[in-house]
Amino acid sequence: MASYRYRPYIKQTTSASHRLDIRWLRQRGYLIPGNRFNVSWASRGKEIGNIGVEMVSTDQVRLVYMVTDREGNKQNYNYPVPLTYTKCNYGGVRPWFRCLQCGKRVAVLYLGRTKFYCRTCQNLTYNSCQESGNYLDQLSARIVRLKRRLGDQNAGGLTSLPFRPKGMHHKTYLRIANQISQLEGTLLAAAGQKFNCSI
Ligand SMILES: [Zn+2]
Repeated sequence: MASYRYRPYIKQTTSASHRLDIRWLRQRGYLIPGNRFNVSWASRGKEIGNIGVEMVSTDQVRLVYMVTDREGNKQNYNYPVPLTYTKCNYGGVRPWFRCLQCGKRVAVLYLGRTKFYCRTCQNLTYNSCQESGNYLDQLSARIVRLKRRLGDQNAGGLTSLPFRPKGMHHKTYLRIANQISQLEGTLLAAAGQKFNCSI
């Protein structure tokens, strides 16, 4: 794995968690065949993991990283993920990852215990984080409470935000939505620390 020293080294500081957003990579001009680079994640200024990414072709990206489990066992990963494109209304194309597990087109892949899959396949639920103790429990409970205020009775997972409930002021909705989004970022970062991954 030491042979993988990709440049440039880029840091993803938005919602620190082990996620790979193809829109983010595209905006920065990284989706060019032959490109090799690192993506790293930080939480409170501290790096919590990084992976190597290689644009093999316009149809394929290769992910290279190492995962250390809680017992300290290290496992190397090096595998391709297919890319696919859709036409935009106003010309041009939009890139997508194809999830290795379900084959769906997705913009974001998440690292679970082993590989990067879509959110659904990772089954990212707050409950799965709770074994990590009180801090994560409290975060999860706060998110669930906030989502219930927005009328989501099924608030146990990382689902998309509910629409604004009838009668709720727009400002109130935005405030709660922002709180949820921030708490989710914190929660994912905290949960991600369990899977301290690096090249
Ligand atoms: Zn999937």
